[in-house]
Amino acid sequence: MSAKRISFPVLIVCLIFLALFTGGVTSASTTRDSGPWWKTTPEPEVPSSYYRSILYSEIGPRLREIETTSNRVRVEVIGQSAGGRNLFLAIVSAPEAFGRLGQYQAIRQTMLKDPEKAQEMIDRFGDFKVPVFINASIHGNEYPGVDAAIRLIEKLAYEDNEEVRQILENVILLVNVVQNPDGRVMGRRTNANGFDLNRDFITQSQPETRATVRVLTEWNPMVVLDLHGFVDPMLIEPCTPPHNPNYEYDLYIKWALDLARAMEAELFAQTGFKAQIPFRDFPEGWDDWPPIFAPMYAMYHGAYGHTLETPYRDERGVAAHFAAVWGALKFVAAHRQEMVRDQIEIFRRGFLAMPQVAIPDEILAQTPYNQYNELTTIEFPAAYVIPADASLQANPHEAARLVDFLIANDVQVAQTAEPFSLDGTSYPKGTYIVWMDQPKRGLANTILWSGWDISTRPGLTMYDISGWSHPLLWGVSRAIMTDRIPVRTYPINRADPVQGFREGGAAKAYAYLPTSNAAIRATNDLLSRGVTVYRAHQPFVDSNRAFGTGTFVIPAIPALANELANQYGLRVYALSRMPRDLIPLRLPKIAVAADEGVRFVLKELGFLYTEVTAGDLNAGILTGGNFDVFINSTISYGALNVQGQSSLTAFIAGGGDYIGIGRTGVPFAISAKLLSGTYRMSTARDNGVVQVIYNPQDPISAQYPVLSHGFVYGPVWFTALEPGVEVSARLSEGAFFVSGFWRSWETSGAAGQPIVVHRSAGAAEITLMGLNPTFRAHPAHTFRLLANAIYTGLR
Ligand SMILES: [Zn+2]
Repeated sequence: MSAKRISFPVLIVCLIFLALFTGGVTSASTTRDSGPWWKTTPEPEVPSSYYRSILYSEIGPRLREIETTSNRVRVEVIGQSAGGRNLFLAIVSAPEAFGRLGQYQAIRQTMLKDPEKAQEMIDRFGDFKVPVFINASIHGNEYPGVDAAIRLIEKLAYEDNEEVRQILENVILLVNVVQNPDGRVMGRRTNANGFDLNRDFITQSQPETRATVRVLTEWNPMVVLDLHGFVDPMLIEPCTPPHNPNYEYDLYIKWALDLARAMEAELFAQTGFKAQIPFRDFPEGWDDWPPIFAPMYAMYHGAYGHTLETPYRDERGVAAHFAAVWGALKFVAAHRQEMVRDQIEIFRRGFLAMPQVAIPDEILAQTPYNQYNELTTIEFPAAYVIPADASLQANPHEAARLVDFLIANDVQVAQTAEPFSLDGTSYPKGTYIVWMDQPKRGLANTILWSGWDISTRPGLTMYDISGWSHPLLWGVSRAIMTDRIPVRTYPINRADPVQGFREGGAAKAYAYLPTSNAAIRATNDLLSRGVTVYRAHQPFVDSNRAFGTGTFVIPAIPALANELANQYGLRVYALSRMPRDLIPLRLPKIAVAADEGVRFVLKELGFLYTEVTAGDLNAGILTGGNFDVFINSTISYGALNVQGQSSLTAFIAGGGDYIGIGRTGVPFAISAKLLSGTYRMSTARDNGVVQVIYNPQDPISAQYPVLSHGFVYGPVWFTALEPGVEVSARLSEGAFFVSGFWRSWETSGAAGQPIVVHRSAGAAEITLMGLNPTFRAHPAHTFRLLANAIYTGLR
């Protein structure tokens, strides 16, 4: 929910609560420094222990000094990190270019509006520069990237020689000088929210990622180099197979391989270090399948994208990054015209809905390894249809968010000007349509598809996740239009806000449904202001209308009902009497030992929490009324000593609740005998989108669509459960695995088995989840499982 839709007093209250209770949690909207951007307040920092790395607090002043003493550099602040630190974009080019940056961007925009015209312009008009984007140290403790980026900026800012002139004349260098300021300051991989930013590009839950996406969509850089460490010999992409079919991989690899060789050659010339190129040198294990990585995501915007892994942690690592980037810039300066022509060809193919092209034989001949060429192309549908209307849309809130997400990612979205029908369903005027004949069809498809199950391909080893799908994991209804149906549409630049309503007439109470994350946020907002909110533990009937398990009920105060309808887009029903068997809710005191996804989602939904460690548990932190519920995905039972175990037992006996998630949180509960049952796990890296049967009458999966989806990463499922354990969700029978890589899913025996279960033990509620409801803050459809489990425990 955007801040502007929350009333001012509410916001103040929320901020006070956040400030009081979130402790170590960093607010995403803090700006640490006011005044000019280069006035950075020094703070304690963890520098590299291998060389004198530039401190974050020194970067702003250094960039300012360069900007004021060189007419080739301009610096912009493109956003703030999760911890509130500035993100700097240095734009480096020949001085005369700065008056014409708008013109260069206009050429870039022509690529998308009329790619053929842009190709003609490129052929005729020699005086153009191509943007090259350098992303420095997205992993905060991989220090050399930032120092190499600054060395690069300084060299181009001050030196005069033929190489520098060539580069400045042909390139607009865009340097994201420190992609992860929080990580650099703290000497760690992740940002202040604990997220690995180089896994966030398909989700964009973090402000650093969104800032980078804005630059990529604005400039469509032709080359993107992402500076990491540490692989020896230096690793320079392109990747091993499988290559995602939503790229125009033949055009990418045609230049990416030569560009990598140019980097390798310059690296050797400047430093004597060797390089390895996965596409050429490895059989498997370093794939570019999921668009979660910065350079892979950038490929959908037409970039030749490369991860560079410098070999050394010291000054030699800085020199290696600098040399490789320098080699790339020289190569681009020499070949920009043909390279940019092929970049535009990506957009032209999309624009004209042309078929993709497999990797040509002459490139396959340059590697001895199978590139799984049959996986590199796909047949795009004519369109994706996203209904907005509540009668056709399972989740109007997430549908609107998905439309806005597509648009923010430079995907063109339209709305229909007339009704139409597809596969027997009639869609009203105003339905969203994503036509696939558009320049960035690859990005559109990778967001909107269901993904592929590549589990059974022999010889593949996957590096990270292998399955994703925004509609399936955000719970959004969408249809696929295989062949084009004639229907008039008009382009849009934002989704319609979700329309709520409040039923008129006399009311003894108001009810709203738990079917969106907005309903959870609204509930916690009301609770934080001291408003009474009830939750129905059972279905109930009012005036011949049935309301399901988990329905929220508030007192008959029309102003509150209006607020839910207008500010949260909820449908609010007038009840003729106060239902019986309601559980009064309150904001519970939550102890959390969990990954960044759980913590992010709790915050996003408006829950307050305290992080606890195994040491805290052993010191008895759970007892003494400190907490109502313990959410665990990271502490194993073996980490508890005798005191920790008895403190846990006392906590549960006193009515405390336990929510265990995944391959650590579930076994913890079984070992602690919080719930008796047997479970199985597949290997830790198996992952993907699974089809799930939810029980809408169950309080944890309250009013979920029966047949929908979830995400697993190292899946856990139950094989036997003691009497009294209730099943909220189970994997579908048969072919439950939709997309991703889980080698043994067919023979695992997991089909049809419970994957979310719970039981009441006295006043305690024990909930175990074998799917990953909050994985990297992505699967918004399952965030509510966590909220519902918390509320259920308040019974
Ligand atoms: Zn890295």
